[in-house]
Amino acid sequence: MKTRAAVFRGAGQPFEVHELDLEEPRAGEVLVRMAAVGICGTDLHSVKGEWNRPTPSVLGHEGAGVVEAVGEGVSSRRPGDEVVLSWAPSCGECEDCRRGRPARCVTLNRAIAASTLPDGSTGLSLDGETVYRGTATGALAERIVVSERVALPIGEGIPLEQAALLGCAALTGVGAALFAARVESGSSVLVVGAGGVGQFVVQGARIAGAAEIVCVDPLQARREVAARLGATRVADPDELKGLMKAEFPDGVDYAFDAVGDPATTETAFRWTRSGGMCVIVGLPAAGKRLDLDPVDFVRRERVLTGTIYGSADPAVALPVLLEHVRAGRLDLASQLGPSFPLDGINEAIAAALAGSPGRVLVTP
Ligand SMILES: [Zn+2]
Ligand SMILES: [Zn+2]
Repeated sequence: MKTRAAVFRGAGQPFEVHELDLEEPRAGEVLVRMAAVGICGTDLHSVKGEWNRPTPSVLGHEGAGVVEAVGEGVSSRRPGDEVVLSWAPSCGECEDCRRGRPARCVTLNRAIAASTLPDGSTGLSLDGETVYRGTATGALAERIVVSERVALPIGEGIPLEQAALLGCAALTGVGAALFAARVESGSSVLVVGAGGVGQFVVQGARIAGAAEIVCVDPLQARREVAARLGATRVADPDELKGLMKAEFPDGVDYAFDAVGDPATTETAFRWTRSGGMCVIVGLPAAGKRLDLDPVDFVRRERVLTGTIYGSADPAVALPVLLEHVRAGRLDLASQLGPSFPLDGINEAIAAALAGSPGRVLVTP
């Protein structure tokens, strides 16, 4: 069958929309008609040339849609089911998979580096040439074939444009606070970066009951959204030092780097109190390194760690997030930015690169 998709050929080159050949769903796979796909920082790493992955490829890994057809033996999903994609189609058999941490699966991570599915295939081609799939997914397309295990049902009542955000930014950001750091009620939190993921870290910290949530971002529009979502104080990067010295001279209990650059990690770690925890949430560009002083870990007993995909199994964490959405504790609507059709992919990428305060969506 055929599907239209946004094809990425390399950094600095515009995306092209092509009609690709798409293989029918095999046993255990489902065909999903994509409704909305968010542009994530991970996609932008490829766009900016900060990661080198095979091309031509279809990027996009944060999306929601409707199951259109199912392959042989699929009983857990039916045509018409509304689903969120997980970008972790892991092997299901290794130690990490069995421990409920599919995003750590070595087979999956090899596939992500190769821009294929875990079995090495992509099921996509253009005039006979293989087309690769970003983050083992490739969602910037009208139709996509994925394992039934990563087409996660969302049930009724959540618009698909909002549901798309659950697939990466929300699971990652809320999970960082709830499952990776396990923020304690009454604690103090610093969130560095109020982009798509950072806003969800703020909400996760609020849901966990943090008493103080400081959010720092250079863009005022983002700071305003963070303040509405639960940040008790917001600051420009230039104002942060003064604010912290006045209000949290010993640092905060939990600091999150939602950007993933050594400079932002340094900021988050600097303001982590003795015995506190600093969590890197954003993925750094390839080759970046941190400069660390071991005394921070010995004398000050600080913990520096990272989290991938919310440190949880998306199939288990998604229902938790859906409960928070339905109870009004987790807001998705305010996280939506401008939305573009598939043919507007280059405008969508430009809006995301410009730092849109809300998530930029493509609605194929
Ligand atoms: Zn993502
Ligand atoms: Zn595995």
